[in-house]
Amino acid sequence: MIKYILFDLDDTIYSTSLGMMQEISQRMSEYMVTRLDIPRDDVDRQRKDYWARHGTTLRGLYIERHINPQDFLAFVHDVDIEKYLQADARLDAMLAQLPQTKSIFTNAPADYARRVLSVLGVEKYFQSIFDINFFNYESKPNQFAYDRVVAALPVPARECLMIDDTARNLGPAKKLGMQTAWLRVTEDRYGNDGHDAADFVIASIYDVAKIV
Ligand SMILES: [Mg+2]
Repeated sequence: MIKYILFDLDDTIYSTSLGMMQEISQRMSEYMVTRLDIPRDDVDRQRKDYWARHGTTLRGLYIERHINPQDFLAFVHDVDIEKYLQADARLDAMLAQLPQTKSIFTNAPADYARRVLSVLGVEKYFQSIFDINFFNYESKPNQFAYDRVVAALPVPARECLMIDDTARNLGPAKKLGMQTAWLRVTEDRYGNDGHDAADFVIASIYDVAKIV
């Protein structure tokens, strides 16, 4: 019985094919070049290394380069969301029909998440936004983020479904007893490892109604 659904934000609540996350990712690289003087041709290697050892680019830069996380988050999320997204009537209709309580669980900051949800026209469906500040920059897939979220849930973990396009983010949720759904939209990024932790695999956010 699923009573609560945790949705990832980027590349989950909107389609990866719209390209917004690519711009955010480019801005992360740009930050490293322009603010930290990291050679442009070494940025990809460093980011993959951070992704593997620390979970995210931000976490790696925070721990190893002692950057100001708020400065980084503001820089990378300074995108023109309306250039990529618009009101999504189909998403609106699906969320309206789901009886479960819904929240966002994202490695992005809440103010950006709110802007995204507002442009999509679905902000009203989400009770909470568990964001990077809520778990002190210990972003998914660090266990701490999940522990904090589970402690804040009004239901036991087993009654909660978590949906994420990055498969490795599902393992820690499963370990805590949550049900998990992998939104399989990317074939080539480093988001696929760990999909064995998925109880469900869906091809589109619009398919959530079929599995709950
Ligand atoms: Mg995502």
